[in-house]
Amino acid sequence: MKQHNFSPGPAILPPSVFQALAAGIVNYQDSGLSIAEISHLTPAFREVIGEATRLVRELYQVPSHWEILWLPGGASSQLSTAPMNLVNPDDTIAIVDTGYWSEKAFDAASAYCHVHRTDPERLDIPADAKYLHVVSNETIDGIQWHEFPDVHVPLVADMTSDFLSRPIPFEKFVLIFASAQKNFGISGITCVLVNPTYISDSPTKIPAPKIFHYKTHIAEQSLYHTLPTVPVYSSLLMLRWIKDHGGVANMYQNAQQKAAIMYQEIDTNPNFVGRAPLVKRSIANACFHGKSPEIEAQFLTFAEARGINGIKGFPTIGGFRASMYNGMPIESVQYLVSIMQEFSAQAL
Ligand code: PLP
Repeated sequence: MKQHNFSPGPAILPPSVFQALAAGIVNYQDSGLSIAEISHLTPAFREVIGEATRLVRELYQVPSHWEILWLPGGASSQLSTAPMNLVNPDDTIAIVDTGYWSEKAFDAASAYCHVHRTDPERLDIPADAKYLHVVSNETIDGIQWHEFPDVHVPLVADMTSDFLSRPIPFEKFVLIFASAQKNFGISGITCVLVNPTYISDSPTKIPAPKIFHYKTHIAEQSLYHTLPTVPVYSSLLMLRWIKDHGGVANMYQNAQQKAAIMYQEIDTNPNFVGRAPLVKRSIANACFHGKSPEIEAQFLTFAEARGINGIKGFPTIGGFRASMYNGMPIESVQYLVSIMQEFSAQAL
């Protein structure tokens, strides 16, 4: 049975991307070698990472002085490396308290500097804060910044679940990072965009091993060590796909359309109720509940039997979450909606 994968990540990619990735793993460009067995320092792999970097720059019109890095360790490691590279131990940063991933950022950064917890409504930020960390899309809670805040400090953004699916006003930011496994590849690699002006040279800054210095990776164009090569290749394939399908503007429009279809059903189907406040609803992850625990259990069985995959909500939150990243076709969202309607027609 065809599966419609609404998983929050690792997530669905277009079939053509998986096919090209599989072909490259078997025999990369008719070289008789797998992309997985060539050195990261070969001309062939340098071309892969070079084109991937150029495509990110082109798709987002990234300011020319910004650096684009490909790093392992997931967005999770960036929650530590961002403060390590940007501030000194006596400095204060602020993190907007939006949910699960902002809490993770708070935990990670607290080991390196003073961290102020900023209320998302009041946007209280200490006058001397070095930056404000925002989670542009809280994947687990299903809420999103639709407009990034205008504040007196630069922004650092965890864009793991909406990078390459929405526009970015670069003038507000000094650092943006995103793991690939939702909108632009498979797991194992993180794209980090940094304005190098903000990387501290101060000898008093947090002592970090060389592998965690952005400067190390800038100097070596992300090839300081053997980075996860196949995930970078998957990102290149997905970046080409995004370019061929209308770029970020089109990804954004698709995301809005898919979310509108999904929320329309959640709001009108008597068996379901949306989780996030209306104005903050994520266009990447639609979180919703059944009207009772029994309805939830029944719908999960009903939907899974019909090829709906990965919609179970995060364990601490429960309910359902339909993740609709770049690789998710609108037809799958329409199909999920039809399953919700069929379920309700039977249940009523
Ligand atoms: N930040 C956000 C918003 C996420 O959704 C995730 C993962 O789902 C992460 C950070 C962590 O990413 P990783 O598991 O690649 O470290």
